[in-house]
Amino acid sequence: MKKTKNKPAKSAGLAATVKNGYETISPTDLKRSDEINRLYMDYLGKAKTEREAHNEAVKLLEAAGFTDLALNEKTGQKLAPGAKVYRSCEGKTLMAVVIGKKPLEAGMHIVGGHTDAPRIDIKQNPLYENSEMAMLDTHYYGGIKKYQWLTIPLALHGVFVKPDGKKISLKIGEDPADPVFCITDLLPHLAADQNKKSLAEAVPGESLDLVCSSIPVAEKDRKEKFKYNALKLLSRRYGVNEDDFLSAELELVPAGMPREAGLDRSMILAYGHDDRVCAYTALKALLDMKEVPAYTSAVLLCDKEEIGSMGATGMASNFFENTSAELLNLTSAAYSELSLKRALTNSWMLSADVNALFDPMFAAAFEKRNTPLLNHGVCVTKFTGSRGKSGSSDASAEFMAHIRRIFDKAGVTWQTGELGKVDQGGGGTIAHLMARFGMKVVDCGVGLFSMHAPMELAGKLDIYMAYKGYLAFMKDGRGR
Ligand code: MN
Ligand code: MN
Repeated sequence: MKKTKNKPAKSAGLAATVKNGYETISPTDLKRSDEINRLYMDYLGKAKTEREAHNEAVKLLEAAGFTDLALNEKTGQKLAPGAKVYRSCEGKTLMAVVIGKKPLEAGMHIVGGHTDAPRIDIKQNPLYENSEMAMLDTHYYGGIKKYQWLTIPLALHGVFVKPDGKKISLKIGEDPADPVFCITDLLPHLAADQNKKSLAEAVPGESLDLVCSSIPVAEKDRKEKFKYNALKLLSRRYGVNEDDFLSAELELVPAGMPREAGLDRSMILAYGHDDRVCAYTALKALLDMKEVPAYTSAVLLCDKEEIGSMGATGMASNFFENTSAELLNLTSAAYSELSLKRALTNSWMLSADVNALFDPMFAAAFEKRNTPLLNHGVCVTKFTGSRGKSGSSDASAEFMAHIRRIFDKAGVTWQTGELGKVDQGGGGTIAHLMARFGMKVVDCGVGLFSMHAPMELAGKLDIYMAYKGYLAFMKDGRGR
């Protein structure tokens, strides 16, 4: 594994060196790391769905003086270097920008992460009664190991939208006084048949329904008394009826707040690190951009990555391109399609997504010399994909050299790594969707243990180095 350390002079030897970031981190960086991680935990606890992640990000942006680009689009008010704006897509996807000194045509420096995370969604016709209980039918979202989601406390987050447009937000299970929900599992005493099945088959998707409530309504002639009581409770508390599930987005997520982990508090155990850990550190880097950057800095917080980036709020849509067109229109004297294409092609991007840390408990799945290690810094992944790099956006050696230059100069502790052993599986990010514009893109993010599990584990040093790396990348003036 190629590994660069804080001070470039030290890594100028003949052989590549691998060092734990805690051996080289300065007291200043250590202090800053604590601050950044505290702020991240606060954000993560409030951002448990893509909508919440979006709304919390908008709050932080507005507090830092960013304004909605829609205002400029309406008035035609131009944007000068240093202007700070954001643009939202359906309250789920977000692009935030600090206009640089150079014209947009010179390209942007973009850091793009995603704010959706694997979870369990409630179906559109979910409520039914079985064995004298009201049950909720679910449909999982993203790649999960289903058995991990049984028997843990789940919170219900989301919105009902009435036909007249009225939106009712809901969050049950996060306040310690709230009730939580739970998907049950079979007791080991009776699991002889279940134990014979593979992990993938032991818990079918249709068996992830949960007990919604279990007290019947006190009406003698009422049919489906248990379901009816659940509806009565929902109506009384939220003013919704059974049909309102049709226009609702309700998501079950692990209940509870992020926690520091380990005797030395060096890690964070939480739901949704993938990919709010990169989304937040990118956002925070943009918020901390003190001077006007040479190139326009942009942060993308996008939705639907976990299910292939499709749909209007996914990065396969034209949202990014359209937003860039608006920016070009508002930063130049005359808008042209050619200038837009140049702006996109000349851009540089860090596709900010998580990678898998080497886990000694599952060593056989990894090839250690090309896998990120805990506390070895933010991970740059030249290519993702599976088997023979299939489906990957493979970054060029030339662009990798620029990343080395930027990170080493800024004292960023970083490492490189693939997602596990060749032929063992694979993964992808939004990198290829951005690379199609001809821009230079490489994956760069935080390594995790237990990716996509209800609780994922990440190292604070790696989280901090992601922040530091993203900031250095956005500030970079491309000079060698
Ligand atoms: Mn991800
Ligand atoms: Mn993921």
